[in-house]
Amino acid sequence: MESINKQTLKDKIPWNKGKKTGYNSKQAEKVKGRKHTEEELKKMRGRKLSKEVLEKITTINRKLFAGKPLSEEHKKKISEAHKKSGHKWPSPLGKKKSDIAKEKMKIFHTGKRATTETKRKMSWSHLGKHDGEKHPNWKGGITPVNQQIRHSLEYHFWRSDCFGRDKFTCQECKIRNVRLVVDHIKPFAVIIAEYKITSLEEALNCEELWDINNGRTLCDDCHKQTSTYGNRKEYRILAKK
Ligand SMILES: [Zn+2]
Repeated sequence: MESINKQTLKDKIPWNKGKKTGYNSKQAEKVKGRKHTEEELKKMRGRKLSKEVLEKITTINRKLFAGKPLSEEHKKKISEAHKKSGHKWPSPLGKKKSDIAKEKMKIFHTGKRATTETKRKMSWSHLGKHDGEKHPNWKGGITPVNQQIRHSLEYHFWRSDCFGRDKFTCQECKIRNVRLVVDHIKPFAVIIAEYKITSLEEALNCEELWDINNGRTLCDDCHKQTSTYGNRKEYRILAKK
């Protein structure tokens, strides 16, 4: 095969044989230092290069400039040219992604899990960014006071204190290792109503609310048996008083 190929190459006439291509040395001498006229430049600027040619140019440029740092002058020139043309770099932030791009990202990320380290970093970077007023769903501080109390740190401590004292055991049926809740013996809503608590601050100052003697650990089943469970009629009446 090889010998045949060599032979055929020998037989082949070079494509530029006898053709006038490019400049000879004399012509080149003439052209040297000559600048293009405006008209010629216009022609060149408007010229659309074929895909093949563009690819060739790109590969040549890559080979020439790959890994080579640009000189300060070169950088300045690029910057000025961009400023002149009003060029703006596309910002990855706020750029709308096409459906295809979204689909691609989805495929890329499926089945991939962030490492613990990455997760921690993500968590830190988002910390406090959406707190309270900063949250897009912030409606101006209308979270019901009940909810605010139940999510407060004080409530969390009250709950764990009760769990600890009861050794994570249901105080009715003495069951362990099931889902447990801390039930208010005197209902939470009753205390709120009694002290006319309207803010978290008032709630934090209410001693009865944080008395662990008013809490008892119950399992789900026993909790449902209590007269104050959920939104029972009797309970609603009690809370209204
Ligand atoms: Zn129980």
